[in-house]
Amino acid sequence: MGEARRQTLAVWKFSSCDGCQLSLLDCEDELLTLAERLEVAYFLEASSATLEGPYDISLVEGSITTAHDAERIREVRRLSRVLITIGACATAGGIQALRNFADVEDFTAIVYASPDYISTLGTSTPISSHVPVDYELNGCPINKRQLLEVIAAHLIGRRPRVRAHSVCVDCKRRGTVCVMVAHGTPCLGPVTHAGCGALCPAYDRGCYGCYGPMESPNTTSLTSQFRILGQSDQAISRVFRGFSAWAWQFRKASEECERT
Ligand code: SF4
Ligand code: SF4
Repeated sequence: MGEARRQTLAVWKFSSCDGCQLSLLDCEDELLTLAERLEVAYFLEASSATLEGPYDISLVEGSITTAHDAERIREVRRLSRVLITIGACATAGGIQALRNFADVEDFTAIVYASPDYISTLGTSTPISSHVPVDYELNGCPINKRQLLEVIAAHLIGRRPRVRAHSVCVDCKRRGTVCVMVAHGTPCLGPVTHAGCGALCPAYDRGCYGCYGPMESPNTTSLTSQFRILGQSDQAISRVFRGFSAWAWQFRKASEECERT
């Protein structure tokens, strides 16, 4: 009996900083084990050697910010049996989605000496706004353990076990004193997806939501708490406009504050 065919993996980059792809490279020892089941067929950050598709699993980093991106993601979808988006840019539009709240030409005029050469869309949007996505993994960057779990689960055809609770739960687990309760520091932990192990509060800083919204975030209640802490509505709106500003839950919360 011959050996089972290894499934093929492709990794794609759109508008992003490459941090999530680096999380995959950071797996190091685990990558060797993974390579027994998975053939890395297209991953330009790791190797210029590529295999032609179609691919069993595609990991997609980055958001759609150009007309070319919008065309290319449709081709990636066509070539991929399973398409998994990784990171805040791919799942929510990323920090570059701040343009969605303004006129992109105001930004290009400030940043570039010759903005006429810049060809960009007026928005930065997540991959799921353009093509069907099979799984979304939050984080900025993603957590490598969660990434390995998601890949392993898709290899054997089961549901990934990625916990959807808030950062607060991880604070309690590690015994971190709550910075909001103890010091009045605004913290997005109650509405943010777990994955980082509650890193910032462990260093006496409020969470700024880089893992994006948790499954069912109560942003209304957190907004009330921020007001009790003396935050202005303008300041609260800005707190929700970080790496996952365009995720609908955070977007709604920030827009509600702008309206009041
Ligand atoms: S510090 Fe932030 S994340 Fe931790 S328990 Fe308090 S509110 Fe939640
Ligand atoms: S900002 Fe929040 S989600 Fe991001 S690393 Fe800090 S505690 Fe974790």
